[in-house]
Amino acid sequence: MTRTRLVAGNWKMHGNRAANAALLDAILRGQGGDASAECAVCVPFPYLAQVGERLRGTAVAWGAQNVSEHAQGAYTGEVSAAMLADFGCKYVIVGHSERRQLFGESDGQVAAKFAAARKGGLTPILCVGETLAEREAGRTEQVVGRQLDAVLSSSSFGDAVLAYEPVWAIGTGRNATPEQAQAVHAFLRTKVPSETCILYGGSMKAANAAGLLAMPDIDGGLIGGASLAAEEFLAILRAAGSIRVTT
Ligand code: PEP
Repeated sequence: MTRTRLVAGNWKMHGNRAANAALLDAILRGQGGDASAECAVCVPFPYLAQVGERLRGTAVAWGAQNVSEHAQGAYTGEVSAAMLADFGCKYVIVGHSERRQLFGESDGQVAAKFAAARKGGLTPILCVGETLAEREAGRTEQVVGRQLDAVLSSSSFGDAVLAYEPVWAIGTGRNATPEQAQAVHAFLRTKVPSETCILYGGSMKAANAAGLLAMPDIDGGLIGGASLAAEEFLAILRAAGSIRVTT
């Protein structure tokens, strides 16, 4: 069986209508309908309509970066899975380390968001990852295992996407080596369905993508900073599409 190859951009809290339009145009020009690896962008909520209008009917999917664990109701400022589906989202990032660290999302809340996303027909991109202190204490597998088990204890994984994102590599310019990432991916793969697409995220860019993507258990990338530069993002997409993994 061939696992899906996916390169997903996480725009974080960046963009405006003009910059988004230029970035999407450049991605579509460079991507050229080539579907050897799937491509997606996860964008701030206010731009979902703009992005959906531009990408509908193309080979580039779109999604959001967060979702409420609640279906609807008096939750001021929150956005439900049904609302994201209404705007054509395929994906939603769940449990990004910035949500866990800056907004206090617990393992339990991440598990509830994952369940809400699945129930709403979205494909969650579940992020797990250890801090530098946890890695240096030899606790990487314990931490990512705990984060993943919290989700698996209340939901089946289904066709969700898993992203290994070491916290110390996110936005730091310091990526995990291919061997470091592969070791964690191989561990994670023992816990999820064999066809699960497992992404690496953490300072992935054109210059280091091929080495990471050549690893047998790395199926693609979740890309932060480099997803805001079309040429960088497209180079990663091309690297992912040029390697086929068979399980
Ligand atoms: C991310 O935000 O998921 C990420 C991997 O960021 P960066 O690529 O900038 O490290």
